[in-house]
Parts: sequence; C-alpha cells; structure tokens
Amino acid sequence: MEFTENLSTSRKSAQERASVLANPGFGDFFTDHTAVVDWTSNEGGRDGQWHDARIEPYGPIAMDPAASVLHYGQEIFEGLKAYRHEDGSVWSFRPRANAARLNKSAQRLALPQLDEDVFVDSLKKLVATDVEWVPTGEGEALYLRPFMIATEAFLGVRAAREVSYRVIASPAGNYFGGELKPVAIWVSKDYARAGRGGTGSAKCGGNYAASLIAQLEAEEHGCKQVLFLDSFNDNAVEELGGMNVFFVTKDQKLITPALTGTILEGVTRSSVIQLAKDRGMEVEERKITLDEWRDGIGSGEITEAFACGTAAVITPIGVLKNGDELIGNESAPAGEVTMSIREELLGIQLGTVEDRHGWLERLA
Ligand SMILES: *Cc1c(COP(=O)(O)O)cnc(C)c1O
Repeated sequence: MEFTENLSTSRKSAQERASVLANPGFGDFFTDHTAVVDWTSNEGGRDGQWHDARIEPYGPIAMDPAASVLHYGQEIFEGLKAYRHEDGSVWSFRPRANAARLNKSAQRLALPQLDEDVFVDSLKKLVATDVEWVPTGEGEALYLRPFMIATEAFLGVRAAREVSYRVIASPAGNYFGGELKPVAIWVSKDYARAGRGGTGSAKCGGNYAASLIAQLEAEEHGCKQVLFLDSFNDNAVEELGGMNVFFVTKDQKLITPALTGTILEGVTRSSVIQLAKDRGMEVEERKITLDEWRDGIGSGEITEAFACGTAAVITPIGVLKNGDELIGNESAPAGEVTMSIREELLGIQLGTVEDRHGWLERLA
C-alpha cells in the first residue's frame, strides 16, 4: 500500500521545535504530520478494504457528530517509541508485536484487521517525514500513538462500517517527570479495570475511561498510579492503569501476574520476561494476591516491585497505599534487579547493548 503525501505548509519553525524539544514532558506536543488509512466495509459485512493511505498535516479530524466512536467508544490504540541512536538513525522496538496486539484488540472491538506491513509502514512514513522531532536527549524518544476509530455516522448499535486508522507522534521525556524515583501506588478498592469476558486484554480507550475515577482517587492520596486487583474475588494483583507489575524475590526469582484475559499483555512485560530468562532467572507467571505482596514484603521474601510499560519503561514501586495501610517503604531506593533490567532494556532500545533477539526495526 502506497502512502501519498500532503505536506504541511505551516510546519513549526526550527526555533519552535527546539523549544519544545528542550523540555518535551509527556504527551503535550505533537509533530507536524499524521499518517492515515481509511477502511470501508464491503456491503456492510466484516470484510472491507483499507484505502487512501496518506501522510497529511497534523490537525483536527473532521467527523460527523453521529460517528460511532463518539457514542459507543469503538476505539483501540497502541503505544511505542522511536529511539534516536548515536549515529542519528531512528529505530523502533518490536513494532510487529504492537501490530499483532492492535489486531488482537481490533478483533475484540469488532474493528477490521490491519496488515502488519501497513502498520510498520505508517510508522516509517510518519517518522521519516517528521524525523527532526525525534529527540536526542537522555531518556527521550518520539512516542508514537497509532489508533483506530469508528467514523461511520450511525446511531444504531452495531460494528461500524467506516473506520479510520491514524498515527500521531509526540516527543517524550520521563513519563513521571524529573528524576527516576520509586513511585507510590494507590490500591483501588471500589473500582475494577476489567472483568472476565470483558476488554481487559484489549488496548482500548474504554478501559482507560473506566480507570480515571480511580486515578483521581490515587492523586488525592498522593499516588501516581492505581493498582487494580481482582477485588471482587481474592485480591489477585492484576496491573496498574497502563503498566504491568513484577516482583523480585530474595532468591532472584521474577513473579508477574499470569495473563488471564483481564490483563493487558505488555510488549515491555514480555521483553522483561525474556531478558530475565536470558540471565538464568526463574520467571513465574502466576496468580499473586495482595496478601502475598504484603506478607512477602514483611518477611523479606519479596525484595523489589516494579511497574513496566513503553511510556514509563521500568519504574520501581516504592510504597503501596491500601486505604490507611502502607505496604513497602516510601523512601526505599530503587531495587538492584529492577535497575539492572531497566538499564539493559534501555540499552537495547538505544543501540548500546547488543540486540540478541532482533527486536529493533529501523524507521529512519
Ligand atoms: C499499554 C499497556 C500496558 C503496557 O504495554 P507495553 O506494550 O509494555 O507498553 C500495560 N497495561 C495496560 C492496561 C496498557 O494499556
């Protein structure tokens, strides 16, 4: 599929761009262009055609007010980064895993499948067009946000017959701002992120919409993120609003909640599992409850906990606030295993550590 180009006549000046890149933050600024591919179904069925692949100027999307994404939330997204290497080249990390996950999410949300090569091409075209926006600073990257929305104007409830796939890009620094420090996490008691048979393992906006009230609660309690549990059963640990969770035991084992259908399978999660196995560490994907977490910290069986995802990479968890109860230590330093896996993963992404698994794909 060929992408046509309609380039912006009002690109940001070098000066404006430099001032954004001097302090990119996370998700506040966007590059000059966007990649788009539209889809229309054949005779109202599940099959259809992707068409009109194009690069166009970044800007508002003209959409009918009856577009079904605005009413029924038929939407999915992805998140990955473009990393600048020392020689100036730009690389993505396991983009085909994101393509596969987009299609898994699409399947669950009754959206069409997108060819993996079209997905990777859309990233390449956008990044090549806006390559000057890829930051060079330490810990910085160009965050890529592919997404798919139902654009058909129709208020009856059914899978939309017109869909748009788009990619936007945003220069990004540290997700939590400032220096890397262990974060405080709020345990949500009243709200679940996902349920059995629901959309927990799909990357869809609706999951995030359902998590925001708990996120507000977390912020009111001085926490950066929410931990969701299977709180209507046995308090099995699931994940944070947008990150998977890992534990390190005193005998150097890694534990992470098993994928049960209510947890999102992170690309970072599966990379961490692989890197740990490469080191000869034992990795357990299994149920771990809040009680086991609390007891494990108390007895010294669990020595470290961390959260991981593309945006925040690997972030040590300092303390867990469960109502008035504190689990862990607010001022404990980041764990050694946590930091060592973080360094290795970042090294691979930045091209300074050997890419043994062929995870990198060049974008520009
Ligand atoms: C995106 C996401 C993650 C992390 O996935 P990565 O591929 O590692 O970025 C974890 N949990 C949820 C709910 C997510 O949406």
